[in-house]
Amino acid sequence: MKPFPRAEISGDALKANLKRLRQLAPQSKVMAVVKANGYGHGLLNVAHCLATADGFGLARLEEALELRAGGVSSKLLLLEGFFRQSDLPTLVAHDIDTVVHHESQIEMLEAASLAKPVTVWMKIDTGMHRLGFTLDQFEAIYQRLLACPQVAKPIHLMTHFACADEPENPATAEQARRFEQMTAKLPGDRTLANSAATLYWPATQADWIRPGIALYGVSPVVGDLGRNHGLEPAMELVSQLIAVRDHKAGDPVGYGSYWQAKQDTKLGVVAIGYGDGYPRNAPEGTPVWVNGRLVPVVGRVSMDMLTVDLGIDATDKVGDTAVLWGKALPVEEVAEHIGTIAYELVTKLTPRVAVCLE
Ligand SMILES: *Cc1c(COP(=O)(O)O)cnc(C)c1O
Repeated sequence: MKPFPRAEISGDALKANLKRLRQLAPQSKVMAVVKANGYGHGLLNVAHCLATADGFGLARLEEALELRAGGVSSKLLLLEGFFRQSDLPTLVAHDIDTVVHHESQIEMLEAASLAKPVTVWMKIDTGMHRLGFTLDQFEAIYQRLLACPQVAKPIHLMTHFACADEPENPATAEQARRFEQMTAKLPGDRTLANSAATLYWPATQADWIRPGIALYGVSPVVGDLGRNHGLEPAMELVSQLIAVRDHKAGDPVGYGSYWQAKQDTKLGVVAIGYGDGYPRNAPEGTPVWVNGRLVPVVGRVSMDMLTVDLGIDATDKVGDTAVLWGKALPVEEVAEHIGTIAYELVTKLTPRVAVCLE
């Protein structure tokens, strides 16, 4: 018996997506971004399926240590760097690269005494204004890192785009121009492109691309689909009907009774709710796939259940499968109905959802 709700993860789709991204960026190495539990797909599952990636990008030291404990020996990079002085010996012991984006991190490096220098990716703020050193700071900081014996040479270089998911927005080309201006003559590897830039701004692919969402088969762009780029959804979020009920015209359903049936119908109760990470604010009409068709969510999503309108002629039965998103119902479309992005849906699943690698 398979548990439900469950997130079925296709290892074949993950591998095919990596292959597709290599086709799209043939000159670049791939830093597969697997933070946030592999975007909800299971950190170790994903890393093992993507074992041929050139490295993995993470947001937390704990994530990197989980990969090392799971036998992953690839290059690992902390995309926001280390947070505490005491992290530095751990980086060295486990051969983990770090981003350096702030002077406080340089102070910690200068004060440390380490068995080996740390591999550093200097983050440059070319316009996102969240993390990184500005054009004005660049030269002095670069020299300070060069002079720091705890920093391995050459220093690698990175930046991150604010608007790469807007194919018409000129800000990305401007950020890339600034990065080029600062780094053109320097040794060290360079990386700029997340998924959106890899797909929409190929000129920014450089030495390494850093795709996250695209590896999972999902488009980073609202109104677009992964499959338009030859990517396959890697996650199918599956549950079951636990009740099918005759429902009278005018009767409400669920908390607040705010939806009433316009005509007699049958309602299906699906065992998934916000306690599983399916958003409570999914409005009436959000699609769910049941027995080969899309049916609308009606009434409020509750903690453990949601209700769908199956229609008066429905022949669906208790125990039938309901797919909340997957191949037949792209997560990008569900996200648009709910007013969020696919990233949030896949990363917010709770531990109650079994993640099953197929
Ligand atoms: C999360 C992250 C990525 C991956 O972004 P996607 O949009 O999922 O491709 C790349 N680079 C950095 C610095 C990140 O934090």
